[in-house]
Amino acid sequence: MIQIPRGTKDLLPEETAKWQVIEKVIRDTCDVFQYKEIRTPIFEHTDLFTRSVGDTTDIVQKEMYTFTDRGDRSLTLRPEGTASVVRSYVENKMFGWVNQPVKLYYLGPMFRYERQQAGRYRQFVQFGIEAIGSNDPAIDAEVMALAMSVYKKMGLEKVKLVLNSLGDAESRNAHKEALIQHFEGRIGEFCSDCQSRLTKNPLRILDCKKDRDHELMATAPKLPDYLNEDSKNYFEKVQAYLNELDIPFELDPNLVRGLDYYNHTAFEIMSEGEGFGSITTLAGGGRYNGLVSELGGPDDTPGIGFAMSVERLLLALEAEGKAVQTIENVSFYIAAMDEESKVAAVKLTHNLRVNGISAETDYLNRKVKAQMKSADRLEATYAIIIGETEMETGIAKAKNLQTGESVEFSLADGLNELKKLVS
Ligand code: ATP
Ligand code: MG
Repeated sequence: MIQIPRGTKDLLPEETAKWQVIEKVIRDTCDVFQYKEIRTPIFEHTDLFTRSVGDTTDIVQKEMYTFTDRGDRSLTLRPEGTASVVRSYVENKMFGWVNQPVKLYYLGPMFRYERQQAGRYRQFVQFGIEAIGSNDPAIDAEVMALAMSVYKKMGLEKVKLVLNSLGDAESRNAHKEALIQHFEGRIGEFCSDCQSRLTKNPLRILDCKKDRDHELMATAPKLPDYLNEDSKNYFEKVQAYLNELDIPFELDPNLVRGLDYYNHTAFEIMSEGEGFGSITTLAGGGRYNGLVSELGGPDDTPGIGFAMSVERLLLALEAEGKAVQTIENVSFYIAAMDEESKVAAVKLTHNLRVNGISAETDYLNRKVKAQMKSADRLEATYAIIIGETEMETGIAKAKNLQTGESVEFSLADGLNELKKLVS
């Protein structure tokens, strides 16, 4: 028997119903915040990710699903969304669009070769947004507000926003020098990844999962101490806007994002739900003012965004004991007593459906009693039984299964009455 690949899963209908609720909350939220959906391909040229995500990151070094196609091109299943969105922004010259900044969202599967554990899959679904073309600290606050708004609408209470600033290029460079000096002498005590990170991107050492308990980590130079005036000002304005929007946050000077292209605002949203386990990050994001030009777009085009996975959102709901309210019941169940009325039942079912009303009937030629059991199991609002009498008189009854009340209607032209019952 062939089984599902490791790190992936099937969503069976009951589970899918929950996903659809979450997807609707996401789409509705993006709609009111005025972010429009973009759909980019599932695979891209490998270079896109090595260039934008950065070749010192875990994603590029260990996690990509890369393959050569029959035309000898190196392609990669997308491990994240920002690179593709920015590629598309540049390729479609969105910097020329009338409405600026360009505000986009995506919702779809991402692929990373990771060790499977709770909240960590090889195929998972990310929802993310990107606001490209604005350097206004108000939009940093908006981006975080949107993410928090999704969690809030889903009913999560134990989520916190954690914030830091990586500063501009000048600040980052000053910090980088300090980091190199700090770790240089004892870099031999660190993992091989960190050793190669030292000169390429020492900031990533702070994000290392293997060496996180090394004593030099706690004493490492902190970003906030290296922010220049401009960067400090920017960060203060972001915080002021968050306060105005009543969005609580915590500062964490050790928060760095795994990806190379971030600067200024960096944030994560964490769950404090009991039983959420060791992975507490629900979403991560930040500003990436260098990425657009890195991918061939106009210089100094600013951008900011975040990404969250639906899988971790569901885990957080579970940890807080919150259920996702799904509606799955059918409006009408139509039962038939004999072969002749069966044809009428199938017709009525079809007529209801093409008029936008959910309906179900029996396809196993069961006795009426068994059919009514099905109606119960499907939580039908109304049941209709068609038999000899109904066929003779042309009048049938729709019985409300909750109240027991019945309403008569004409089989030939009673559709409007039935519509009224469930509208
Ligand atoms: P982590 O430190 O947990 O590996 P990351 O830094 O790799 O996270 P990002 O690349 O910032 O994560 O992705 C943003 C969000 O996507 C994460 O906060 C998380 O919600 C989700 N995510 C990342 N990897 C996975 C995965 N393998 N399975 C499920 N969700 C994931
Ligand atoms: Mg990761």
